Amino acid sequence: MRVLRQIIDIYQKYYYNLGVVKSDRILVAGAGGFIGGWLVRDLLNKGFTNIVAVDIKEFSNWYQIFDQTTNHVLDLRSSENCLKAMEGVKIVYNLAADMGGMGFIEKNKALCMLSVLINTNLIDIAKNQNVNRYFYASSACVYNQKMQLDPRNLGLKESDAYPADPEDGYGWEKLFSERMCNHYYQDFGLEVRVGRFHNVYGPRGTFDGGREKAPAAICRKVAKAFLSGNHEIEIWGDGEQTRSFTYIEDTIHGVSLMMAGRYELPLNIGSSEEVSINQLVDIVEDIAGIKLARKYLLDAPKGVRGRNSDNTLIKQIFDWEPSIKLKEGLTETYNWIFQELSSN
Ligand code: NAD
Repeated sequence: MRVLRQIIDIYQKYYYNLGVVKSDRILVAGAGGFIGGWLVRDLLNKGFTNIVAVDIKEFSNWYQIFDQTTNHVLDLRSSENCLKAMEGVKIVYNLAADMGGMGFIEKNKALCMLSVLINTNLIDIAKNQNVNRYFYASSACVYNQKMQLDPRNLGLKESDAYPADPEDGYGWEKLFSERMCNHYYQDFGLEVRVGRFHNVYGPRGTFDGGREKAPAAICRKVAKAFLSGNHEIEIWGDGEQTRSFTYIEDTIHGVSLMMAGRYELPLNIGSSEEVSINQLVDIVEDIAGIKLARKYLLDAPKGVRGRNSDNTLIKQIFDWEPSIKLKEGLTETYNWIFQELSSN
């Protein structure tokens, strides 16, 4: 976490200024997941000593789990469980959601929308017990789909979520919950922070089973081709759809800045290094040192045609934007997935 270390001092100062002490109780909802696991690690590294980590998954399925935190297995769609998780909490990070890559969210719209219960319960309790900061993990899936028809997307700026036409299901849930955060700020003064994550990738996340996203899926497929000697790869769509992918370290850095800062409206936390899926495969092939025959599955879920992050606003507010190059982040990710596959 090289970049993160550079801002620890500033971060600690901000927190001090905001009246938060290291022993304040922090809830990380979705701590057994990919981003939640890295966030808990980061908070521990920064010296926070009273972290409650909650996830619906059994402990054995958490990507990262720490002895120094209070860990609970709870379904946060239940208000009773949310009350238990929120006991004495001053800072909330809500990363809990039933989600996955395109293959999952296109076929599980109702399930994705049910995550609305998690945020609704947590934010209402947060308001009642005057929490200091409330972070909500939103997504680039809130953006108007008509602005994502061209593979050469110049970047989605925060205002492009309206007029509303988000991804059906998961995207609507995120947009609704964003608005809920906004109104809890306006009506009750709750200090909300809403980060719109753009396709986050890195080690210790989902890479198979159907919920994985493109970078992890491509790394897995290339690693399997390498290990099996069958030098072929299946690609969803024609491979010309574009995205930007954000390395986990940049994502955590963005969340830290938002929590320390004073901007309560939704903000992109996304890389602006746009690539096509074909280019993504080129990079991973290069890392693995192989070339694969490509088979295009034109009927597979593809999502929008072009998506990228416009970082004008985050640069204006924090003088920062995600900067870790795809090649660098994918090397870490590929090596981790390769090791996981090799050891199983
Ligand atoms: P993840 O699936 O690895 O983590 C989410 C965690 O939430 C999982 O461990 C899951 O078990 C838990 N969860 C689901 N339902 C729950 C419930 N009812 N009660 C308690 N826990 C529950 O996903 P992630 O990539 O770490 O994403 C974290 C957050 O960021 C999510 O809200 C997601 O929508 C958002 N996000 C992620 C990305 C990305 O590219 N990874 C992009 C945009 C937004």
